[in-house]
Amino acid sequence: MPKCKHCNKESITISQSLGVCVDCIRRDFKNVRSQIEKAHTDSRKKYGLPVYPPNDPDGISCKICVNECKIPADGISYCGLRTNKDRKRTSVSQNEGNLEWYYDTLPTNCVADWVCPAGTGAGYPEYSCTEGPEIGYKNLAAYLEKRPVPLYMDDLPTTSRNHAFGCLDIARKKGLKHVRIGNIHLLGEHIDP
Ligand code: SF4
Ligand SMILES: [Zn+2]
Repeated sequence: MPKCKHCNKESITISQSLGVCVDCIRRDFKNVRSQIEKAHTDSRKKYGLPVYPPNDPDGISCKICVNECKIPADGISYCGLRTNKDRKRTSVSQNEGNLEWYYDTLPTNCVADWVCPAGTGAGYPEYSCTEGPEIGYKNLAAYLEKRPVPLYMDDLPTTSRNHAFGCLDIARKKGLKHVRIGNIHLLGEHIDP
């Protein structure tokens, strides 16, 4: 059972990572503040992130969100998405991107399942893995994001064709089956590595 490090109360509602109960936070904030700050620091350091938004007067600025980072040389931003390398702001690259993925139990992903053979078995059953609805199968839906959640970075380019086809190639080499690129007409121009 989680225990409050300040008053020793035990309760399932006490956050283990914070280590203090809500009553102590409300009634004795001054004395539990350092414990809360330690939890914040530990949670950031665990992922190699700065504890506070960097504010180097000579750093590279980003004003996309309220943190308004000024990233020092060879440093990293508060969100962890941007760095300052050789006085250049970096984010995604040929080899690294912001991806979002999930298992989708709806076999057709974003297409209406009642018009898909995987949803009903009707129409083109040769494209379905089972007779009738594909129960028990999942899509691995993956997206190269322009929009790292929860931040919107509108200066990131659209996913390029060569990035998308490169991902497709890697996924197939890893043994993933039935991997496809969605609407290629929405992809951006080829980008040189
Ligand atoms: S988007 Fe990231 S780099 Fe930019 S200001 Fe916000 S936390 Fe800093
Ligand atoms: Zn307490």
